[in-house]
Amino acid sequence: ATPIAILVGTGRGAQLGVLITGPEALESAERIDTIVLDKTGTVTEGRMTVVAVTRVGDAATADIQHLIGSLEHASEHPLARALAGLTAEHAPVADFAGLAGRGVTGTVDGHAVFAGRAAFAAAQAGALPEAARAAVDRIEADGATAVVAGWDGRVRAVLAVADTVRDDSAETIGALRRLGLDVILLTGDNAGAARAAAHAVGIDRVIAGVLPEGKVDEIARLRAEGHRVAMVGDGVNDAAALATADLGIAMGGGTDAAMHASDIALAGHGIAPVVTAIRLSRRTMRVIR
Ligand code: ADP
Ligand code: MG
Repeated sequence: ATPIAILVGTGRGAQLGVLITGPEALESAERIDTIVLDKTGTVTEGRMTVVAVTRVGDAATADIQHLIGSLEHASEHPLARALAGLTAEHAPVADFAGLAGRGVTGTVDGHAVFAGRAAFAAAQAGALPEAARAAVDRIEADGATAVVAGWDGRVRAVLAVADTVRDDSAETIGALRRLGLDVILLTGDNAGAARAAAHAVGIDRVIAGVLPEGKVDEIARLRAEGHRVAMVGDGVNDAAALATADLGIAMGGGTDAAMHASDIALAGHGIAPVVTAIRLSRRTMRVIR
């Protein structure tokens, strides 16, 4: 039978924006010593804006905006929402495919369009043109995210996208530290953007540039070292890592995939309820013992 204290803790959690899926979640939460945070959409708002468009080759800017904006309109990644804004009128996308943490492809107006991280775009186009590589390096050194895009087997543009750190992130990360937890930022984004976000919120351990499988490996490695690990994430790319952690925590407003893989779902926006969850679990388990 489930101890009354856990039922009470679960009910209290729901009032405070911490939705707990089962009695084990509070027990796991009490024991964790390491908390791994996804970057995009978790520590940051995931509400991105396109800050620069660098043309590669001679495609017309209007075509770049129309084809890439239309393709990204079919994706639910936070980056995609910004890129969809490149155009007001979205053409339909046929054969849309998204490769989590890598990029997207689809047919727009008869063109085979792609957009994603540099390695993904290089695979689509056969190689990454020198001008594109230079643009990516410049954008990443500035702490933004570069999306390399094009169509019909050629890279045509590099887009710089910038995100904003959530209002409550720095304060929450400070509170997690005071609870005695090690905090790590884990992201599929580039090292420059990762370090800029980490610096803004006071995180000194950063693991960047990892694919979704790599996120799983990092969580598994920490657990193998004897840590008890909570992972907080929002994306399809986080789902497997959330399921691998001792405690998976899905962001409010995140994807269904992240929610289904998690033990706790946060209501509302921001990571502040993570602190509530840890405190609540400690109080609840103290009552039981
Ligand atoms: P995070 O781990 O910070 O949430 P992701 O793993 O979701 O980041 O994304 C990693 C990288 O994959 C992005 O920085 C981007 O380069 C690429 N990417 C993923 N989805 C898309 C998309 N819809 N359009 C363009 N690029 C994408
Ligand atoms: Mg994310």
